[in-house]
Amino acid sequence: MKKIIMALAATTMLFACKTQNVPTSVPEQPVVASINLVDVVDDKVWVTIDPDRFTVETTTFNIPKTVPGTYSEDNYGRFTEGFKALDYKGNEMAFSKLDENSYSITNAKDLDKVMYLVNDSFDWEDEGGVYSMAGTNILKDENFLLNLHGFVGYFDQMTEKQFKLEILRPADLIAGTSLSIANTLPGKDANSKKDIYNLDRYFEVIDNPIMYSAPDTTSFNVEDMQVLLSVYSPNKKHSAQSLKPEMEKMIRAQKRFLGDINSTDKYAILVYLSDSPGEGNAGNFGALEHHTSTVVVMPETMEAEALDKSMTDIVSHEFFHIITPLGIHSNEVHYFDYNNPKMSQHLWLYEGVTEYFANLFQVNQGLLSNQEFYNRMVEKINTSKRFDDTVPFTVMSKNILKDEYKDSYYNVYLKGALIGMALDIRLRELSDGKTGILDLMKKLNSKYGKDRPFEDDKLIPVIVELTYPEIQDFFDTYVSGSTPIPYDEFFSKVGLEEKEIMNEVGYFLKGRNPYITANQQTMEIVFREDIEMNTFLKEIGIMGGDTLKSVNGTEYNIQNVYDLIMASQAWKAGENIRMTIQRDGEELVLEGEIITPKDMETTYVESPDADSKQVELRKAWLKA
Ligand SMILES: [Zn+2]
Repeated sequence: MKKIIMALAATTMLFACKTQNVPTSVPEQPVVASINLVDVVDDKVWVTIDPDRFTVETTTFNIPKTVPGTYSEDNYGRFTEGFKALDYKGNEMAFSKLDENSYSITNAKDLDKVMYLVNDSFDWEDEGGVYSMAGTNILKDENFLLNLHGFVGYFDQMTEKQFKLEILRPADLIAGTSLSIANTLPGKDANSKKDIYNLDRYFEVIDNPIMYSAPDTTSFNVEDMQVLLSVYSPNKKHSAQSLKPEMEKMIRAQKRFLGDINSTDKYAILVYLSDSPGEGNAGNFGALEHHTSTVVVMPETMEAEALDKSMTDIVSHEFFHIITPLGIHSNEVHYFDYNNPKMSQHLWLYEGVTEYFANLFQVNQGLLSNQEFYNRMVEKINTSKRFDDTVPFTVMSKNILKDEYKDSYYNVYLKGALIGMALDIRLRELSDGKTGILDLMKKLNSKYGKDRPFEDDKLIPVIVELTYPEIQDFFDTYVSGSTPIPYDEFFSKVGLEEKEIMNEVGYFLKGRNPYITANQQTMEIVFREDIEMNTFLKEIGIMGGDTLKSVNGTEYNIQNVYDLIMASQAWKAGENIRMTIQRDGEELVLEGEIITPKDMETTYVESPDADSKQVELRKAWLKA
């Protein structure tokens, strides 16, 4: 998964019948899961799960508590209601609700099927705490985002059985998914159709999200892989066609970077663009990985260029998840328990190395300059310092579902990626530049791979065996140990030194640090007095303490600060701007030309004094 904290969040921080008597010689029937997207009742849809005959006396039906990749307990059962257990005569049977997600049904031999209504998470207040990219949307006749763990539950001991998924849908909405539709049948009338999908086991149900919406799809081929792009943009601001060029460029670059690690022959990018985030809609952004697809949720208001840039970072991260944890993973991940999950110690690998690759491939393939890459790593260093740097990453990872650790999850994208970087530099150093972390991942991939999980506490010894004895010290010190990584030391190996330089920043944000804050009483936007303004704000005449009233005639306050940040992404140097502010009780109009905002930042740059060994190691690190 990649959860991103947008400029927005940075600012708001401030503030599926069988007949009776089936002969036993009949082959085993799949579990039939039916979802009715046509007869939507109060924004809810009916789901029916019809398993084969039970031979046990009692069974338990579960909706997942959590799913792979989210590292959080979300209790998807909370979004269901009106649970019914029916016998073969259609009579309701008795059941007992065990917890938010599970139901126990006795006399299971009589049980024909269960039915329940599903609510979507997008409409819940704060989406019920569920990440949007793992969430669900039900918008009658318009859009259905089926992260199927939110709809389809499973019976104990039946997760390895085949599933047949039947989706009754409006005739004019089509499926965006990497799944093949086995058959499309007539629906209940001319306005509906029924799509049938065959899946080998429950995991495949969870691993294959489907988005139903009006057709807005395109596809392209990268080597022998077909990439499908399916977009839902409620106000038609963006489209599959508009997003295609950058996605294609990015995936081509990723494939070149990865070389011979073969992956899937089909990959689907399902993009849900949220209109008015926060008001009964998806409000947190990012994407969740699957073996052959990803669900991306982003704000529709983003300008094309900014959306392309974010999509490059996010989708490349999800695609790299094919290496780990989808490819290389421990037993905890392989034998995933949806209702009693066990966590692995290796989030540094699953999320950290993935995030590192999502940045490294860009500098390696020329999508980012060397300096842009260093700046990104420095930003990760600075932001990671907000978390306790002495907590061993393996401990945090193992306990990520616990209250004490769950808030540090975001650090997997920061320090996790930095662990990846430091390990890469160390491997390059020990091999005289010949091999790095990508080579290690290729070795691990051929040793394990998606059908051969490793034992959680054997991974580090295996890595040491595959690389150098010195790597044991690296893990003991910086990953399972409590020593913060001395970034300066690692950067100096590749000839980088710390330096203050004028860097391009955002109009209202320096990295994740905003120039503005909120007046909690008046809900007005106020420029901070405790930091220097950037060159743009200074040039236009803004002073710390000024209250922002309007920009180019549009009034802003903390409620629509998000619109301001989004609008500013489309500003171009040379255009005129007019800001109305309040200073010492007086209203002032500031007018001028937009300039590229810059500010002093401490970063790492290539040292002019670096020796040839350092320069060679740097080249091997970034360009090999
Ligand atoms: Zn991820």
